[in-house]
Amino acid sequence: MADPERAYRLGIMGGTFDPIHIGHLACAEQAREACRLDGVVFMPAGDPWMKHGRRLASAEDRFAMVSLAVQDNPRFDASRLEVDRAGETYTVDTLRALRRHYPANVELYFLSGADAILRISEWHDATEVAELAHLIAVTRPGYRIDEARERYARAFGAGLRVDQLEVTALSVSSTDLREKVRMGESIRYLVPQVVADYIEEHGLYR
Ligand code: ATP
Ligand code: MG
Repeated sequence: MADPERAYRLGIMGGTFDPIHIGHLACAEQAREACRLDGVVFMPAGDPWMKHGRRLASAEDRFAMVSLAVQDNPRFDASRLEVDRAGETYTVDTLRALRRHYPANVELYFLSGADAILRISEWHDATEVAELAHLIAVTRPGYRIDEARERYARAFGAGLRVDQLEVTALSVSSTDLREKVRMGESIRYLVPQVVADYIEEHGLYR
């Protein structure tokens, strides 16, 4: 029987998701299991501040693809929180909003790939981010997670905590996928079929 006293553990997977791919989904699923999360919310960025100067699919297209990708998993959901917010969005603002929104027995777990964690010293108010949520750094091929930990310790002292989670290595990236589409190459099996169909129907990344 479900324990009514047990906190609800909510995972938050932030990203540009341009487009969402199996790396994101497998990561979230493995984190859900390892951290015993009750659900994972995918939160596509509205106007990603770290990625200015390159072409992005619109927030609406990225949100639509995320929604399609998670629809067959009752534990996964897509959130419009960042898409609907005007201007730049920072993780700390998102987590503050979620913290205000949810009762105290909802624990937040922020899931992040090794590459994103490596840039943590550039995040806005990283200290507060770590106070608002458990930070879970998942492994990603090509990025050294221990280096992220060292940088983090150097920047913020030993007080802050990042948990590391080894996930099945999938060296797929949205950048590679956009390039493949542009070159007319197949992305089948690298994204859910509904996402591949959406990209095709809307002529994205051509
Ligand atoms: P881009 O190439 O456009 O940066 P991306 O594949 O890195 O796209 P993002 O939307 O930037 O995808 O990533 C969202 C989150 O998912 C980040 O925390 C990132 O580190 C993580 N992530 C993305 N792909 C993987 C992967 N293959 N394995 C582990 N983590 C991943
Ligand atoms: Mg990325």
